[in-house]
Amino acid sequence: MTLIADNLRVVLDRIHHACQASGRSPDSVRLLAVSKTFGPEAVRQAHAAGQIAFGENYIQEAVDKIAALRALPLEWHCIGPIQSNKTRLVAEHFDWVHSVDRLKIAQRLSEQRPPHLPPLQLCLQVNTDGGPTKSGVRPEELLALARAVAALPRLELRGLMTIPDPVEGFAAQVALHQRATDLFGSLQSALGLPSFDTLSMGMTADLEAAIAAGSTMVRVGTAIFGKR
Ligand SMILES: *Cc1c(COP(=O)(O)O)cnc(C)c1O
Repeated sequence: MTLIADNLRVVLDRIHHACQASGRSPDSVRLLAVSKTFGPEAVRQAHAAGQIAFGENYIQEAVDKIAALRALPLEWHCIGPIQSNKTRLVAEHFDWVHSVDRLKIAQRLSEQRPPHLPPLQLCLQVNTDGGPTKSGVRPEELLALARAVAALPRLELRGLMTIPDPVEGFAAQVALHQRATDLFGSLQSALGLPSFDTLSMGMTADLEAAIAAGSTMVRVGTAIFGKR
């Protein structure tokens, strides 16, 4: 077994225990392996250990990696900031995008999604705790943006993504994540879309708290691939 395979098993165990601790089914939480800054060989090792879904922040780096690993049946998620001039690369190379916080970006992704590919799976990034400078949609603007995005043809609106500021202590982490869960629930009711089923939250340091609060997808880098 490689170190990456060992690490992956530890992370899957953490997810499993966190699900048990909050009475959730272990298959209600997906693991996204965040491979940013690590090369194709690291991704290959994680795939050999059974991992399918990978998250990337830096778009050009990701596109090169995706090309190098074309032969493997992987699922690629864009989780980093997206400038307008990078939307075409995202639309052409990724399966999912978690980090959309403006209608203009979603419109470009929809227009640029190639017809031979399935709809791009999209989460809106919400800012539940930060000041005005932090990226992410403000909660009061979320419903209008979600409705507009859901109407775009080449996208499928799947849910929300959050990156809460780090806080100390399990209870404080759960409380912070719970705000996103509450927003997610109210959007689910308001939109009534069956595909709106994904709450992307929790990373290496806080995945247990995120799962306790209702995360359906944790994005884990350091605990799988090591320090960046
Ligand atoms: C880097 C990154 C992660 C993974 O963080 P770790 O602490 O290494 O697990 C998750 N989500 C986003 C948006 C990131 O940029």
